[in-house]
Amino acid sequence: MPEKVVIIGSGPAAWTAAIYASRAQLDPLVIQGDRLNNLNKINGTMPLGQLALTTEVENFPSWPAGNTREYLKTALKPDDIDYPYWVDDPKTEQPSHGINGPELMALMRQQAKNFGTRVEDKDVVKVDLKKKPFTITTHDGETVDTHTLIIATGARANYLGLPSEDKYKNKGVSACAVCDGFLPMFRNKPLAVVGAGDSACEEATYLTKFASKVYMVVRRDVMRASKIMAERAQQHPKIEVKWNTVVDEVLGNEKSVTGVRLKSTAGKPDETLDVGGMFAAIGHTPNVGFLDGQVKLKENGYIEWTTVARTFTSVDGVFAAGDVADDYYRQAVSAAGTGCMAALDAERWLGHHGLV
Ligand code: NDP
Repeated sequence: MPEKVVIIGSGPAAWTAAIYASRAQLDPLVIQGDRLNNLNKINGTMPLGQLALTTEVENFPSWPAGNTREYLKTALKPDDIDYPYWVDDPKTEQPSHGINGPELMALMRQQAKNFGTRVEDKDVVKVDLKKKPFTITTHDGETVDTHTLIIATGARANYLGLPSEDKYKNKGVSACAVCDGFLPMFRNKPLAVVGAGDSACEEATYLTKFASKVYMVVRRDVMRASKIMAERAQQHPKIEVKWNTVVDEVLGNEKSVTGVRLKSTAGKPDETLDVGGMFAAIGHTPNVGFLDGQVKLKENGYIEWTTVARTFTSVDGVFAAGDVADDYYRQAVSAAGTGCMAALDAERWLGHHGLV
C-alpha cells in the first residue's frame, strides 16, 4: 500500500508538516536523513537541519528564558535526546535560557512522534515523480511509494570554492562555527569568518568564546546582516572587520590552516592574516539534487511555488515547504508556517482524490 504522505527533511518545515499530517490521521512518514553519513556531516545536511548547527534561537516565538533544562527532561523521550548534556550535565549548559537550535528541533520531532509520525534515518537518493503513486528510493536501495510528497529538505552552507579551501576542510576550514568552534585546533588563536550576513555575525560572535581574536572578512563596505546582529558583532572587543576584502587563498602547512590571503575589492594591496582557521558564512544552496530536474526550480535553484499562497509545485501532489522553496524569508518560524501549509495542502489533495 502506498503511503498517504511522505515528508523528506528534518527542519522546522518537515516537523511542522508531520505534526499536522499526523494529527489529521494521515500516518506520515518522515525521512530525516542518515546521521551516520559523513557527507551529511561535511555538507551540513544532518538530521534536525540547519537549526541543529546554531546556538540560541532568540526569534522563535514562545521561548523566553526559563528553566529549559527541566522542561526538556519532561518533554523529550530518552531516545530523542541527541546530546545528553542538554539535560544531564549541570556544568555545560545554563539551566535557565531561551531555547537553542538543536533543542528546539528535538522538541519539534518529539511533538510529531507523539502523534504517531514514523521517522526513518535514511538519505533519499532518487525520486520518480513521473508516475503516480510516486516512488522514493533511499540510500540502502529500499523504495517507498506515496500518494503525496512534501519536500522540506532545506538548504546547506556554501563554501568559497577555492582549491586551497577544499584542501583544508576539516583541517581548519569549516562552514559551521557552532559545530566546530570548540575544537582544540581553534582555541586561543585568531580566526577568520567570511561573510557579512546574520550567519557571519552570529558565527563571529560565537567564536569569540574560543578565539584570541576574530576577523570578519566583508567584501563590501556594509553588512547585509540585520542591524542588531551587525552592531553586536562590530562592537565586540575581540572582532575586527576587514571591509572591502575577499579571501583569495587559504594558507597552511601539512596539518592545518596558518593564514588567509586577502584581496582588496577597493584596489588596496593584498594582505595576509595569520589565523588558525577560516569559517565560511556566505549563504546557502537548496538541497534539491535528488529531484533530478523533475520539479521546476527558480533561476537561483530554489523550488518554485507555482500558485500564490500555496505550497504547490510544478508536480501535482508534490508540495514544498521551508528553505528549499524560500530564498527570501528563510526563518525557522516561516519554515514552520509553510510546513503547516504543505500538510494542509496534501490533506486536501488526498481528500479531493478520494484517498482519505
Ligand atoms: P545571507 O545570504 O544573508 O548573507 C551571505 C553573506 O555572504 C553576504 O554578506 C554576502 O555578501 C556574503 N558572500 C556571499 N558570497 C560571498 C563570497 N563569495 N565571498 C565573500 N562574501 C560572500 O546568508 P546568511 O546565511 O547570513 O543568512 C541567511 C538567512 O538566515 C537570512 O535571512 C538571515 O536573516 C537568516 N539568519 C538569521 C539568524 C538569526 O536571526 N539568528 C542567524 C543566521 C541566519 P554581500 O552582502 O556582499 O552579498
